[in-house]
Amino acid sequence: MQLGDLTTPALIVDAAALESNLAAMAARWPGETLRPHVKAHKTTALAARQAAHGATGFTCATIREVEGMAAAGLGADLLLANEVLDTRRLGRLDARVTVAVDSPETIEAAAAGGVREVLVDVNVGMPRCGCRPDDAGALADRARAAGLTVRGVMGYEGHLQAWPDAEERATLTKTAMELLLAAHRDVGGDVVSGGGTGTSACNPYVTEMQAGSYALMDSAYTAAGVGYVQALHVLGTVVHVSAARPDMPAYAVADVGLKALGMDHGNPTIPGAQVWFCSDEHVTFAADDPVRVGDRVLVIPAHVDPTVAYHDRMHVVRDEEVLETWPVDLRGW
Ligand code: PLP
Ligand code: MN
Repeated sequence: MQLGDLTTPALIVDAAALESNLAAMAARWPGETLRPHVKAHKTTALAARQAAHGATGFTCATIREVEGMAAAGLGADLLLANEVLDTRRLGRLDARVTVAVDSPETIEAAAAGGVREVLVDVNVGMPRCGCRPDDAGALADRARAAGLTVRGVMGYEGHLQAWPDAEERATLTKTAMELLLAAHRDVGGDVVSGGGTGTSACNPYVTEMQAGSYALMDSAYTAAGVGYVQALHVLGTVVHVSAARPDMPAYAVADVGLKALGMDHGNPTIPGAQVWFCSDEHVTFAADDPVRVGDRVLVIPAHVDPTVAYHDRMHVVRDEEVLETWPVDLRGW
């Protein structure tokens, strides 16, 4: 199959770019020091490539992702790096599952659901989940009293990932991770889990790196200059062109709208063009060179994770050839 045979919009993964990203991260974080986050790609076939590069454990955001990874035979060491209260589906999986806890309620839910291992999730500066660093030790004691094994701590410095200045990003990451390491001294255990694509080069404080976006990348991370190459595009077809008029410059429209793109980090980019806006099914853009109806365009999403979650499959390509089609099989809840 060739690129031209695909129905658009279609997720396209550049095989060489993906492999270069996987190799670069595995060189920096070899073997079990990398716990790739599968929420970025939601695709067990891609997780298997990360395993081929040495990863033995994975990070998940949802119970569905944990279930899917276990079913795919990738459940040797799965971390659900998220707070969950309905744990009924976790205890009976054929996998090693560790769950993040940050409150008495999440500890009780883990124990009631048959979860055996937990990490105490610590807030390191982003207003999301995670306990106050000072509360981590008491929560660990409570978890042990509930019969759970506490493997250590996790803390995700998500607010720093796309910090534009690399030096500042490194300084702020150190400060955030000092909170996590202080909590770790109170909690104990072997694991200090955290980090992401943006801090993967400036966070030597964790024992395992949770990066996810690096495999496919997006324009927001590229703009922050964090390294790694763009492997993901959404392939579209130009469905309309409009010649320049006195009241309106020339523009073109392709079939990659906001229902095919995560938009929370802004508009997508199209190389050689200026994107004007997206609507439900369309992207309107002004191209540097003439565009005709029926032309194909490669659109770069601003945010990889929600983009992937809109699609059923991703096509792995080399030049114009579709090498493989991978189901995005960890979607949904
Ligand atoms: N760890 C946690 C808890 C996350 O929520 C995320 C992403 O939001 C990551 C790791 C991966 O980060 P990134 O997308 O920067 O690679
Ligand atoms: Mn993301």
